[in-house]
Amino acid sequence: MSNLRDVVIVGSGPAGLTAAIYTARANLNPIIIEGIGAGGQLMLTTEVENYPGFRNGIMGPELMMELRAQAERFGTEFVTADVDAVDLSVPNHFTASVGPNTYSGRSMIISTGATATMLGLESEQRLLGHGVSTCATCDGFFFRDVEIVVVGGGDSAVEEANFLTRFASKVTLVHRRKELRASKIMQDRAFANPKIDFAWNATVKEVLGDNKVEGVRLTDTETGVDRDIEAKAMFVAIGHTPNTALFRGQVSLDENGYIATVPGTSRTSISGVFAGGDVQDHVYRQAITAAGSGCMAALEAERYLEALSHA
Ligand code: NAP
Repeated sequence: MSNLRDVVIVGSGPAGLTAAIYTARANLNPIIIEGIGAGGQLMLTTEVENYPGFRNGIMGPELMMELRAQAERFGTEFVTADVDAVDLSVPNHFTASVGPNTYSGRSMIISTGATATMLGLESEQRLLGHGVSTCATCDGFFFRDVEIVVVGGGDSAVEEANFLTRFASKVTLVHRRKELRASKIMQDRAFANPKIDFAWNATVKEVLGDNKVEGVRLTDTETGVDRDIEAKAMFVAIGHTPNTALFRGQVSLDENGYIATVPGTSRTSISGVFAGGDVQDHVYRQAITAAGSGCMAALEAERYLEALSHA
């Protein structure tokens, strides 16, 4: 099966669904290959209080259901499957294959997101959204005047630890070595912040609590001794992996593996291929910025197709 469409969208977080809403309303009949784990990172989130338009907040999965229904209302076609392979080598005939089926577009919008690296603990997975978080900007507000743990030693962890001291009574930064990886200036800020404590040479053995975080069990990497520290939240900040494996070798990636876009646009190294959301953004990583860049990708695809029709 391969009839050439105007737009094929790969990935269904806020970027992909916003691109679908815009391209559907522009009569471009988009098809979105939404993936088995459709909806992206918001599906792993509980309450979202900072997405404009919801004054009382909205649950992450509910927000994604609304976005999906909105895209569907304007005629977006959905394929609920993971893409096996893409081929971007033929100009204006970009394909995404799912098993025996191939979906082809004169343009393609890539919105496959990024995945937060996790520690891989059962307790971490169980309490995700219940005190375990990967986004301080999103969830810091919920943890006022309590103790918080941040895991990691890079810029993200140090930045999140600093940010969280606006709310927390104390932030403990847990790092597996005794030296931070973060830039000097970020380190200096953290060392000067009286609310930040450091647990060096420490790894998280377990997040304590049944339904919400009650503490964190650490193991000293040098002595092997365990100790429990109090915490009502644990923010994991050990890096993100952009979901770009499918596109490697076909479109330019930046040095961190994200899709490279022309600054201020969603244009990639291939004419007619656009990218929106976290797959091309390792700075803002918010649902609203992803939706915004999905809108940019849709408008740029629309203009591209318009120009193509006159060519
Ligand atoms: P990162 O620089 O890769 O740092 C990841 C940190 O997590 C490292 O300290 C690493 O420890 C630790 N880590 C990794 N896997 C772990 C595990 N399984 N268990 C425990 N600890 C683990 O990632 P990032 O901090 O997200 O930064 C990504 C990029 O964005 C960097 O280039 C960074 O400079 C940039 N960034 C910049 C800013 C800013 O300038 N404002 C803010 C955020 C991010 P080791 O050190 O032992 O490897």
